[in-house]
Amino acid sequence: MWTSWNDAVGAPMRGDYAKMTAISNEGARELGYRDVGALWRSGYDMSPEQFAALTDKIWKEVEPLYMALHTYTRWKLNEKYGDAVQAKTGPIRSDLLGNMWAQEWGNIYDIVAPKGAGDLGFDTGELLKAKGYDAVKMVKQGEGFYSSLGFAPLPETFWKRSQITKPADRDVICHASAWDIDNQDDIRIKMCTKVSADDFVTIHHELGHNYYQRAYKAQPMLYKNGANDGFHEAIGDTVALSITPDYLVKIGLLDQARVPSADKDIGLLLRQAMDKVAFLPFGLLIDKWRWGVFSGQIPTTGYQAAWDKMRLQYQGIKPPVARDETKFDAGAKYHIPAAVPYTRYFLARVLQFQFYKAACEQSGWKGPLHRCSFYGNKAVGTKLNAMLSMGQSKPWPDALQVFTGSREMSGAALVEYFKPLKAWLDVQNKGKPTGW
Ligand SMILES: [Zn+2]
Repeated sequence: MWTSWNDAVGAPMRGDYAKMTAISNEGARELGYRDVGALWRSGYDMSPEQFAALTDKIWKEVEPLYMALHTYTRWKLNEKYGDAVQAKTGPIRSDLLGNMWAQEWGNIYDIVAPKGAGDLGFDTGELLKAKGYDAVKMVKQGEGFYSSLGFAPLPETFWKRSQITKPADRDVICHASAWDIDNQDDIRIKMCTKVSADDFVTIHHELGHNYYQRAYKAQPMLYKNGANDGFHEAIGDTVALSITPDYLVKIGLLDQARVPSADKDIGLLLRQAMDKVAFLPFGLLIDKWRWGVFSGQIPTTGYQAAWDKMRLQYQGIKPPVARDETKFDAGAKYHIPAAVPYTRYFLARVLQFQFYKAACEQSGWKGPLHRCSFYGNKAVGTKLNAMLSMGQSKPWPDALQVFTGSREMSGAALVEYFKPLKAWLDVQNKGKPTGW
């Protein structure tokens, strides 16, 4: 599967991609930028070099956590498949991680789940089904979270004009998205919602875009956007981090008696980390590769080698079969041929924990960070709205300061959230080879 996907999807696009790079660079230069990479980095209120240094700084903060997860996961894969498939040392084979791009590893949670603590005892998708939720009711529940913070309900048109489930009479793009049609109140989502835990989280993510869009509608046209593109991606995820077992009890989905005991926290955190921590080096390297391609530092004759080198350097993974310069594995990742900048997702992964921590502190939360839910806290909502309604009218550090009190993007909150997991991983990893 891995080989045929990359060979059949990526490789044929190689020539076209080189051509597109040249054409888009020409456009960027006409606009006064060095290349497309510099143009993309111009949206962060600092020089392209400063911004690249900032992403490196954040990566260094979260790298030890990633290394611990990598060590543990490699060990578990070796246990399952044996030395011939996954060695005890060196990089992880990228087709073993449960995702075509090895970007999120949640699909192999069953392989790494700790005995006992790994069984969470419930699945949110099953709970939704048991309580008779359909797609619309799930979106209503998502709206309910934002309403609990004091945001006005979604407009009538949202319910009339959104695509919440897959239409039966035609083919549509099911990739979830959020839209702001008239830059005022005509906000909508487009999803093919299924009753599942994943889609419940996705609803909160997409609604985050819609509430952001509506919050900055009074700004002049050029300021109707997120403080930077990482902010826009982070808002809904910040809210989704509050979907804790205690929150599920509050909204009547989970019985108090079934709330997992504290000893299950490691399982909950590991499940989160397999997606959110595993993603970090991937989220970073997609644009590191493209910055190199656009600047010419990576020549058209070296696309594949540079890709494999970065995948190894940052993620510690390797392709399962030999690659050469007739291949184009980078092209088999949607955002690369589609020319969608990717650093926003790296920033969003970090920012969502920063926002979440700030919200939890504002709501007076005292316990471990990962158990906090700020559902129903109007003071948090007021402050959040103050940041959202600024749109892009001020440099992003100003917006960050309004909500978190800090002007620095940082991985510290993410590290704090996963602190109990890191301690646990360090015990598991004792005496095992680490790094590659
Ligand atoms: Zn999004």
